[in-house]
Amino acid sequence: MNTTPTIDILNATVHRLTRDHRTTHVDPDTGIKSYPTELSLFEQLRQEIASGRRPSTGGSSGSRSPIAIPAFGLWAEIRETLATMHIAITGRDEPKLSAESKLQKWAAWTQSDVGGESAQKCLHSATAWASAIEQLLNPVRRTEIVGACPVEACGASHAWTWEDGEYVRNTAITATGAEARCGACGTTWAGAELHSLALNLGKAAA
Ligand SMILES: [Zn+2]
Repeated sequence: MNTTPTIDILNATVHRLTRDHRTTHVDPDTGIKSYPTELSLFEQLRQEIASGRRPSTGGSSGSRSPIAIPAFGLWAEIRETLATMHIAITGRDEPKLSAESKLQKWAAWTQSDVGGESAQKCLHSATAWASAIEQLLNPVRRTEIVGACPVEACGASHAWTWEDGEYVRNTAITATGAEARCGACGTTWAGAELHSLALNLGKAAA
């Protein structure tokens, strides 16, 4: 089994979760792509939770952001999984070590497993968290598209998202009007690329 593609996707996903990174923005009117830099997804999730806790200025009841509660549940789930894996890998409980460091250590540790199974497990968690955080912060309605991702290293037909406090299995490829994205590897298609995506859907699995 060739494990290199898994490790490439894993590194890219861990990068998005734990470091400032470039992201793909597609203008919904023109289909033009731009690549702004954004904060790590973990940091964006923490900021969302913090903003939800802050009482709104002038409001009497200190209304919470409507997404603060699922954000908190997702963050608790992420931290618990990372704490468990950290203890399993290092034999040490380090509650003060950041989630970023724990995930980076976990991903680095999987690269010594030549079978690639531990990398797959780490990738499964990391992609589920990345798509869950993105969906939570930017809840656009996405249409499910049946088929396997044509990216050779990916080929996923399903991916996990976090909805209403639980993981939900969706198709890997989902689309808005202007762009399509693979929830497993994070590849985005826009404009004319949507035609080549349509032509190549499922070929990786064939
Ligand atoms: Zn993919």
